[in-house]
Amino acid sequence: MTLRLYNTLTKEKDALAPLLRDPVTGKDRVRMYVCGPTVYDFAHIGNARPVIVFDVLFRLLRHVYGADHVTYVRNITDVDDKINARAAIDYPDLPLNEAIRLVTEKTDAQFQADVAALGCLPPTEQPRATEHIDGMKAMIERLVERGVAYVAEGHVLFSPSAMDRLNGTLPRYGALARRSLDEMLAGARVDVAPYKKEPMDFVLWKPSAENEPGWPSPAGIEGRGRPGWHIECSAMSMAKLLEPFGGGLNCDDPLKNTFDIHGGGIDLVFPHHENEIAQSCCAFGAPRMANIWMHNGFLQVEGEKMSKSLGNFVTIRELLETGRFGDNVWHGYVLRFAMLTTHYRQPIDFTAERLVEARRQLADWIDFVSGVDPSESDEPPAELVEKLADDLNFSEAKALMASWARQKGDVEAATKLSRSMRFLGLWKSEASAEIYSYGHSVSDSPSAAEVEAFIAARRSPPREELCRGRPHPRRA
Ligand SMILES: [Zn+2]
Repeated sequence: MTLRLYNTLTKEKDALAPLLRDPVTGKDRVRMYVCGPTVYDFAHIGNARPVIVFDVLFRLLRHVYGADHVTYVRNITDVDDKINARAAIDYPDLPLNEAIRLVTEKTDAQFQADVAALGCLPPTEQPRATEHIDGMKAMIERLVERGVAYVAEGHVLFSPSAMDRLNGTLPRYGALARRSLDEMLAGARVDVAPYKKEPMDFVLWKPSAENEPGWPSPAGIEGRGRPGWHIECSAMSMAKLLEPFGGGLNCDDPLKNTFDIHGGGIDLVFPHHENEIAQSCCAFGAPRMANIWMHNGFLQVEGEKMSKSLGNFVTIRELLETGRFGDNVWHGYVLRFAMLTTHYRQPIDFTAERLVEARRQLADWIDFVSGVDPSESDEPPAELVEKLADDLNFSEAKALMASWARQKGDVEAATKLSRSMRFLGLWKSEASAEIYSYGHSVSDSPSAAEVEAFIAARRSPPREELCRGRPHPRRA
């Protein structure tokens, strides 16, 4: 089974050819890195998209290559100026470092609970940036040695034009985003920081004031400082995906310093991923940081860009618990299913109507499959795997599942659907009513009339119900 995945780098669907083979088992090993959250506030529904999309890919990789032969790393950015600002607001009376610890621990716990509710498996590793400061400093030293980074006023800056002068097997800066340095220079803002030699130079390290988080600085700089955002991912992917397999700064074999898949939202292509590539490839002398670069599309809410000023900013927690969106609380499986019904590379419009439809379909399928497969297996049918292996073609996977759901009374079709839903993280063994009644108070049981109304609505949803959500019997 070969997976074909759309690669932003080549603009084609490329066959995944894992770079490592396990010396003991002789089996391929796949390594994947996905940029994780900056932990200062509740994650919003746009943050949920890459988490869900790459969880599906993780499940598929585990199926194809074996669960022990996939390493999935999703980092936690716990050093960032947004975190510092939030800590100062939330805990004005505490020393900043202590306030930062409280903010990041609380937000990380919220994030883990939210994505677990969305049916996502924990990644193999979730490194925190503050645990990898030494690795960042070592990479920065190497980049200065190689002449692609320089020190200025307590900062270390990376120079894309110095990188392009090195040539050799290194990629050209801008190759991922398909922009030339000249174009970028022409479009650069005029108010460039005075310590930069050129407008496109970006920060690897910056000085910290006394009350800001800081560590002893690299590259001969006196005083404390902290890393820029981009270097965090280069150092954490090195620590978790290269060093354990013989790569890293002490290895000059480019093949050992490349991993298989790097993922994230499309908004990260430039500058974040372009800069990760620049740092990693220059530090290791490798032509590629990762072989395949995958990006999920943008998310809008009810036809508009999500923003706090428009009032349509919605967090995962609000969807799961408050009824603020679409007058309903939504089960995590419904949110997950709704997210997957648009191909991951396409923009998605996240609407209440989409959630109502996802909930109806999911409940129908659950009713169809409940109890048919006592093994509770999540072994996916081969036909489903084939659809997903084509760049996670969930639309075709969903059509396939819908075709099984139409075969009423067919135990084999129901078993295939049941296994597919479990495999995709859309269901474990819950009753369909639980998908509806999720999150509501359990103080009273539904009346017979409410149950009747619920069943009738399930058979033929009137139009207004589709838009407003469905009445739900309360759990007894
Ligand atoms: Zn990153």
